[in-house]
Amino acid sequence: MVLDDFKLDGKVAIVTGCNTGLGQAIAIGLAEAGAHIAGVARRDATETKEAIQALGRQFHLIRLDLLEPDAPRRIVQGAMEAFGQIDILVNNAGIIRRNDALEYTEEDWDAVMNTNLKVLFFLSQEVAKQFLRQGRGGKIINIASMLSFQGGIRIAAYTASKSGVLGITRILANEWAKYGINVNAIAPGYMETNNTLALRQDEKRNAEILSRIPAGRWGKPEDLKGAAVFLASAASNYVHGYAIAVDGGWLAR
Ligand code: NAP
Repeated sequence: MVLDDFKLDGKVAIVTGCNTGLGQAIAIGLAEAGAHIAGVARRDATETKEAIQALGRQFHLIRLDLLEPDAPRRIVQGAMEAFGQIDILVNNAGIIRRNDALEYTEEDWDAVMNTNLKVLFFLSQEVAKQFLRQGRGGKIINIASMLSFQGGIRIAAYTASKSGVLGITRILANEWAKYGINVNAIAPGYMETNNTLALRQDEKRNAEILSRIPAGRWGKPEDLKGAAVFLASAASNYVHGYAIAVDGGWLAR
């Protein structure tokens, strides 16, 4: 029955940036569907851990900064030691730095590109190698953005990185579909998290953004749960290299 295809019972999902915002909601959503979570965070993730354990699933924290050398290998090793298998990777962690393009610094550029794009690629590579060792495919979900499709303003590196995330999603899907690995993306619209705090506190920008969202509200992290469970589950087995926008209709305008 089709609803059974959405179940993640007994699966293990790595979720980066699991301590807050979209990563926290996605981790909880996958756990609600049955998965155990290997959460990656550079700080305490007690809130996420407690929410997942309350659902009767296991949570294992892999505590590191994703920019540390060797992070991808250590993440796979940590998840394997805790659970003995990996079925799903959610590349969620990301940062944004705002400045005019004329003033944008190389330091900000490197920080954003390394976190949002380089780490995402090399962690996907490391997890895909584990999927091949296991021999039964797997699911990779990259968190893209409206800036995978649009230019934005004052966020040059973020737009470059998120446009790159869409491209990487497609090329990895092309190369890995034959192994039963689904690589897809979720493109969230304007969501209420730390990432958008500055925008929401700017009265003028907040009003401009709200007036352009057909749904008439900012998205909540929980709005991503459905798309995440779909892309993590057998229900999406023939979906490859696609980005699902969860954006209140923003891209349709
Ligand atoms: P957030 O609340 O700022 O969360 C970002 C997460 O990434 C945090 O857990 C953060 O850890 C983690 N992280 C960043 N750099 C890291 C590093 N070097 N090592 C380990 N963890 C790191 O933002 P969010 O809105 O939930 O963002 C999640 C993803 O969604 C990002 O990729 C973002 O670009 C994307 N996105 C967000 C929106 C939106 O409207 N909010 C829209 C489109 C796409 P700390 O808590 O320690 O900083």
